Amino acid sequence: MRLAEIIAVGSELLTPFHADTNSLFLTEELNQLGVAVIHKSVVPDDRAALGEAFAQALERADLVIATGGLGPTEDDVTREALAELLGRRLLRDDRVLHQIRDRFARLDRPMTPNNERQALVPEGATVFPNDSGTAPGLWVEARGRAILLLPGPPGEARRIFAEQARPVIERRAGNRRMARRLLRVVGLSESGLDHRVAETYKQYEQISTTILATREGIEIHLTIWSEDAPEAARVLDELSARLVALLGEALVSATGETLDEVVARELSLSGSTVAVAESCTGGIVSARLTSLPGSSLFFRGGAVSYSNPMKTIWAGVPAELIEQHGAVSSEVAIAMAEGVRRSAETTLGLGITGIAGPGGGTPEKPVGTVHIALAGESGAEARPFLFGGDRDRIRHLAAQTALDMLRRRLLRGRNERS
Ligand code: AMP
Ligand code: MG
Repeated sequence: MRLAEIIAVGSELLTPFHADTNSLFLTEELNQLGVAVIHKSVVPDDRAALGEAFAQALERADLVIATGGLGPTEDDVTREALAELLGRRLLRDDRVLHQIRDRFARLDRPMTPNNERQALVPEGATVFPNDSGTAPGLWVEARGRAILLLPGPPGEARRIFAEQARPVIERRAGNRRMARRLLRVVGLSESGLDHRVAETYKQYEQISTTILATREGIEIHLTIWSEDAPEAARVLDELSARLVALLGEALVSATGETLDEVVARELSLSGSTVAVAESCTGGIVSARLTSLPGSSLFFRGGAVSYSNPMKTIWAGVPAELIEQHGAVSSEVAIAMAEGVRRSAETTLGLGITGIAGPGGGTPEKPVGTVHIALAGESGAEARPFLFGGDRDRIRHLAAQTALDMLRRRLLRGRNERS
């Protein structure tokens, strides 16, 4: 059993209001077992559409997993569609019926006749009882393939899969396993990054390398399928170490750790404390710094000094400085960073001021202009940026860049210490 296909069943999954998440944890579990997911689909609660989806999946994959459409109502037709396609009868399973009756009795709720539909089982199927809901999981073998039907509610699907389906799949999966590494990079473009590392990763044909631009930076995914786990780990570590050397300071982590996690860790390790004065980011940096457990060790506080007077009152920026250089300037960013650092008595202070748009831009200071300053014991540095995109993206990039400046400062401090 090497190739799987997942069918997410539910008309609601084709609206903007619900996303298929079941296939994500199923893929993760299957990959751990050495089974690759080669195709996924989202199919409405419709017999014909379901029959077609199952028929196609059975041509491609050894294992077809469908989640959803096993409920008691008329629109839940997954088991009917599969039985029809395979030419199997649906039989009432008395053990399942008893379990459903027991469950209603335990919960002291009346059982309506339509719940009995959930005790219908395709001929020859193995039943995986559902301890957290009414619809059981069903395992059907046909056409030399295996088909697993799981209920839609993620908690129920996850539990039945982990406790009952996983062991069956594991026995048949063989010894091939997937191993992977995730490297995170901030401050390089996707093409700039690829230019720097392509020569190296192309030397490793057995490793599939994927470079993915995300909101939080660039991810490099290294994936290998192998029967020899120690050897797979060795080549992954070897390539990973070579990429680490090529990426220098742009590398956030080679372990999957996020930028925020790395910043938090480095702040804690170095015994640093930080305070933030934010204008255009409106508190995003403070929110990110406080979103991780243990932030009270290093985060003293943040001021959203949005208007000019509040830059003076909360961040101690001299009014004349704002008058002279404008609120969006390196001078004001530095004064904000130094001001909060002074008043919060921290080792580090961040100041962020910019024009997020869509209004407020001028030819000299267009929308996207952001000045970020970092103040420390040995003075302050400010850097000017011009970010593209809409208001949301500019604010996000400003916060991201401020955190990255913090990370790079902490990294240099660590290298100086060691
Ligand atoms: P069903 O078994 O189709 O009646 O689904 C019951 C519940 O599970 C509904 O709230 C669905 O939105 C949810 N659900 C069904 N399929 C999925 C899926 N693929 N990912 C996440 N939730 C789902
Ligand atoms: Mg449904």
